[in-house]
Amino acid sequence: DLVIIGAGPIGLACGIEAEKAGLNYTIIEKGCLVNALYNYPINMTFFSTSELLEIGNVPFISHGHKPTRSEALEYYRRVSDHWSLKINLYEAVTSINSVNSSFEIHTSKQIHQAENIIIATGFYGLPNLMGVEGEELPKVKHYYDEPHPYFRQKVVVVGSANSAVDVALETYRKGAEVTMVIREDGIGRRVKYWVKPDIENRIKEGSIKAYFNTTIKKITPSTVEIQTPDGDKTLENDFVLAMTGYVPDFSFLQSIGIDCNNDDLQPAHDPETFETNIPRIYLAGVVCGGMNTNSLFIENSRYHAVNIINDITGK
Ligand code: FAD
Repeated sequence: DLVIIGAGPIGLACGIEAEKAGLNYTIIEKGCLVNALYNYPINMTFFSTSELLEIGNVPFISHGHKPTRSEALEYYRRVSDHWSLKINLYEAVTSINSVNSSFEIHTSKQIHQAENIIIATGFYGLPNLMGVEGEELPKVKHYYDEPHPYFRQKVVVVGSANSAVDVALETYRKGAEVTMVIREDGIGRRVKYWVKPDIENRIKEGSIKAYFNTTIKKITPSTVEIQTPDGDKTLENDFVLAMTGYVPDFSFLQSIGIDCNNDDLQPAHDPETFETNIPRIYLAGVVCGGMNTNSLFIENSRYHAVNIINDITGK
């Protein structure tokens, strides 16, 4: 009946609803279970309390006020086992063809057939590139895992949103010499209210250096060239942590025929049923937001699963 692409929290929520409705379904995931969460910084703590990350009525109890990455990984493993979810891991969906009244889903391993598809592919797979010379150097990282490698290193952190701020503070506290390069004139408006004073005070006291209204021009193995309001500067540099965000795989969506034509590149879908402009192909989770990746998260997109499965079974 149904193929669900992506075993993130929302893909799993869709699997649970499909299970409850007695549909014949498979979840296909290109990496490990909750692959995006697995690739989050090792020491990260969620901003949501644990009950807001729950799916399938399985309680999520964390030791602290907010759950950690490893608690979330354990939780979603437990949910998958509790509901006996049918998940194919390490199998990437590469293309989808419409054949008569159903779909052929081509993957890195086989071809599946289904009458309905839910795309719950998130946005964490593709970094938002800076598009500057030197970005491909091995010292430039678009994903951050832990601070230890940056001890006594000259680190440039690019960006001013939550990830950039967390990375700047954590690497500074573990012995890195941190410089932030920020396109805007201040720290991001959406930075967690309990973290914002911390970063602003570190910048004010000079522990972390920050260049505002500044962009990266070029990266070389030992320097970063920046364009500041006071003219161009060259910084000595060992690592660049480009925390410039991530984007959904628009070319995958467009290759299927899903329209992504408005200002935010938001993929076309019905806001109630989540069906796209292609009948029987649905979107779920953060992929629905297009470039507006901050508007949807686990907390506020868990319910997509119920609406979609109701629409499928109603048909
Ligand atoms: P994802 O979790 O991104 O899952 C998509 C899955 O699809 C991935 O596993 C991916 O590997 C797979 N996939 C992609 N393409 C293919 C393909 N072609 N074939 C097969 N599989 C594919 N949200 C909250 O609600 N609370 C928080 O506290 C919170 N904290 C966060 C902290 C950080 C540092 C970050 C980066 C995000 C945080 N979020 C939080 C956001 C939240 O993690 C995401 O909104 C959530 O993961 C979205 O779930 P999803 O299932 O839509 O997508």
